[in-house]
Amino acid sequence: MKSLKAQHNILSDAQEQLEIIAHGQTGDFALVPFQQKLEESGLFPLKPTGVEIFQVNIGKMCNQVCKHCHVDAGPDRKEIMTWETMEQCLDALRANPRLQIVDLTGGAPEMNPNFRPFVTAIKSLNRHVIVRCNLTIILANKKYHDLPHFYKQHDVEVVSSLPFYTQDRTDRQRGNGVFEDSIKALQMLNDVGYGIEGTGLILNLVYNPAGAFLPPAQQSLEQEYKQALTQQYGIFFNNLFAITNLPISRYLDYLLQSGNYEKYMEKLVKAYNPVAAANVMCRNTISISWDGYLYDCDFNQMLDLKVSGLSKHISQFDTSMLNERTIIVNQHCYGCTAGSGSSCGGAVT
Ligand code: SF4
Ligand code: SF4
Repeated sequence: MKSLKAQHNILSDAQEQLEIIAHGQTGDFALVPFQQKLEESGLFPLKPTGVEIFQVNIGKMCNQVCKHCHVDAGPDRKEIMTWETMEQCLDALRANPRLQIVDLTGGAPEMNPNFRPFVTAIKSLNRHVIVRCNLTIILANKKYHDLPHFYKQHDVEVVSSLPFYTQDRTDRQRGNGVFEDSIKALQMLNDVGYGIEGTGLILNLVYNPAGAFLPPAQQSLEQEYKQALTQQYGIFFNNLFAITNLPISRYLDYLLQSGNYEKYMEKLVKAYNPVAAANVMCRNTISISWDGYLYDCDFNQMLDLKVSGLSKHISQFDTSMLNERTIIVNQHCYGCTAGSGSSCGGAVT
């Protein structure tokens, strides 16, 4: 196998990423297979606890091109979910009342022309809707300026990435001007009541590390964010989710290019936490891609690792079959089990 460093810039498809993740040797430190770690924790084969969260990636199109994006999203991506596939998602929700939470992600999900009718239809089924809003989309075009009102009207929970509470660190990761626009968008969300105590309108922020390190403790970081954002910009929010970067897609490319892949993997393996492993999000979540295929999580989706078993597409959605499946794991899963663990809702322990 070629040296890992020689392979950067060739991460054009999932297969190549998987080969690096699965076979990478990290200098003197041979990676323990994730499967073995799960076996030692009595968790292999990894089984669902029951599908409850329905996470739908409605497209890879985005107004930003963040350095660590695991979706490899951007303005040039054309893959977006059609209304026909959305209707199949709605059918699955109708047939499965246990799916109470619908988590909409992308790309920038709002760029899908059917985003608003889809949210409205899901809400009419009385489900809780979370939207992963990148904040800058609200200012990107006049047609998005009323998004805070739309979210409020439909009682949507907003989860937004803000890599840090300073301009330099945020812009370095997400692009020039992103911090300033994010602050304006947060103020617009606050103006309609998001993140304000007593309104019931939830606004959560997401931190992810800018480099090859694990996130600090979520609770203390949340206090730091609250103090800085409130004092400097008068911004309020509910919770901060501290998320670990998984070694896939653009972040894997960054690790390889910067020569940090080996050190980072070592860090993840050494920080393996069996309690976090027992609580990984794939145990109660199912992830649906823009073209309707089913995955154990958004990360497996990006590696094109479809769910095991026969129910592989939203048109064949079968919760009893999905609840029986074995979750597909690989070395990238160490990102979910390091330290306090990491999920789309932040730390898990
Ligand atoms: S805003 Fe989100 S989806 Fe868009 S490029 Fe950044 S990380 Fe990726
Ligand atoms: S990467 Fe996906 S499959 Fe692996 S542990 Fe995390 S959520 Fe589960």
